[in-house]
Amino acid sequence: PVMVKLQGVTKSYPNGSLGVFDLSLEVKRGDFLLITGPSGAGKSTLLKLLYGAERPSSGEVIVDDLNVGKLRGDRLSLLRRRIGVVFQDYKLIPTRTVSENIAFVLWAQGYTRKEIQRRLPPTLKVVGLQHKANCFPDELSGGEQQRVSLARAIVGTPPVLLADEPTGNLDPDNSRQVLNILKKLNGMGATVIVTTHDEQLVQMSRQPVVQLREGRLYRGF
Ligand code: ADP
Ligand code: ADP
Repeated sequence: PVMVKLQGVTKSYPNGSLGVFDLSLEVKRGDFLLITGPSGAGKSTLLKLLYGAERPSSGEVIVDDLNVGKLRGDRLSLLRRRIGVVFQDYKLIPTRTVSENIAFVLWAQGYTRKEIQRRLPPTLKVVGLQHKANCFPDELSGGEQQRVSLARAIVGTPPVLLADEPTGNLDPDNSRQVLNILKKLNGMGATVIVTTHDEQLVQMSRQPVVQLREGRLYRGF
């Protein structure tokens, strides 16, 4: 079964910049796909189209049977519950602890206090941060902060996990850790799509890769 599908997708920005051009791509349920390519190739645009932060200028974007380009209001929040997103710069709330940062998403989605309490420990365990639950983000290393942001992305157990340059600010050791967690989550059933321009990470991951160049698919493996 197909989890993510782009069909002839073009995104041009209001200023005339081309994000992606006539892009077609299919990702099956349970796949792990790396998207590589130089800066400006359209990698972020592609992910934004998937989580509904940008709408296609033409073509179709389907995620978990939802036609993303056509979603409005309530249905868009439905999509966001099915997708976890991780960013290069973590985007943690500095005035909240690790636990609070992770719980906040669930709280915003209307989960009960009890359910939130139930989900926190196993999520912290997957990313290896049980011992940092009550720390604030600025008390953590970059690698640890990225693992908090991973925990936040997966605590609602979304079927799709997107990561935009998740290791862009990390050293090789921490990058490897983050990659291993992404693989573990994939092993637990998540469909994972990761953008990166880190050639070392691509080699290390031994996962399928597609390359973008100037908004187009350059080659697939
Ligand atoms: P990558 O993630 O591979 O670096 P992006 O998707 O960020 O590539 O960018 C692809 C192209 O789209 C670039 O030419 C970039 O300048 C342009 N672009 C991205 N976001 C915007 C935006 N909000 N407004 C205008 N142009 C944009
Ligand atoms: P890394 O080698 O991953 O970059 P760091 O050297 O930044 O790690 O941090 C090592 C340890 O010190 C981490 O466990 C982190 O939680 C802790 N730490 C880093 N900065 C601070 C800080 N400002 N306050 C408290 N603990 C910190």
